[in-house]
Amino acid sequence: MENVWLARKFLARLPFETKRNVFKGDEFYCPVCDTKIQKFLNHLETGKPNSWCPICESEQRHRLDLLFFRKNTNLFDSNSKKMLHVAPELSIKPILEREKNLEYVTADLNDPDAMVKMDITEIQFPDETFDVIYCSHVLEHVIEDWKAMGEFYRVLKTGCWAVLQVPINVEVTEEDFTVDSDEERLRLYGQIDHVRNYGRDYKDRLEKAGFEVRVFKADEIVSKNALKQMSIAPEREVFFCKKN
Ligand SMILES: [Zn+2]
Repeated sequence: MENVWLARKFLARLPFETKRNVFKGDEFYCPVCDTKIQKFLNHLETGKPNSWCPICESEQRHRLDLLFFRKNTNLFDSNSKKMLHVAPELSIKPILEREKNLEYVTADLNDPDAMVKMDITEIQFPDETFDVIYCSHVLEHVIEDWKAMGEFYRVLKTGCWAVLQVPINVEVTEEDFTVDSDEERLRLYGQIDHVRNYGRDYKDRLEKAGFEVRVFKADEIVSKNALKQMSIAPEREVFFCKKN
């Protein structure tokens, strides 16, 4: 496993053009770095096959979310917007940074590279600040997720939207806040820093915070053939949350 990490570290440092030459191919396509490649690599942490783009390091969910932004939202139109991106995905961040119409704010609790240090259960911005909020795979780490959802709702402008993604791995959400050891969290939730398994009722939690939620299946966003080519599982979903 250590060798795989080292190899990936080495790969990450190579210039984009070198990687494009090494992985050049016709079979697959990454919509994040806009490159045709011969294969996607296994996910570095989970080992899931056909996951990781060797060029930009996008994962399946990054590719799907970016496609969703492009095809189903106003994110890239010419109107200026203020966007909050929590725990920014490194493959997507440069694309958003380059976007001239975005006043782009990155936030994280621990990452010193983020523009603001933020506890999402207590956001330091006034009501109705943002036109767009994107927060992916963070809420499963947060005990008071209802507070964080309420804070996202508060700082979002009326009429605007958020994409709030979590892994859904059970039918009904499982959480037990008496669990207080890494071993137990690993056993119950698959990672030492996860505090629950979200189920199909995740949508209800978002609605309870005030959002109108529409769930888009991946194959509603792009065709099944395109999903295959971009190595995105068709059962993946995007939680599109509007503040009315
Ligand atoms: Zn890529």
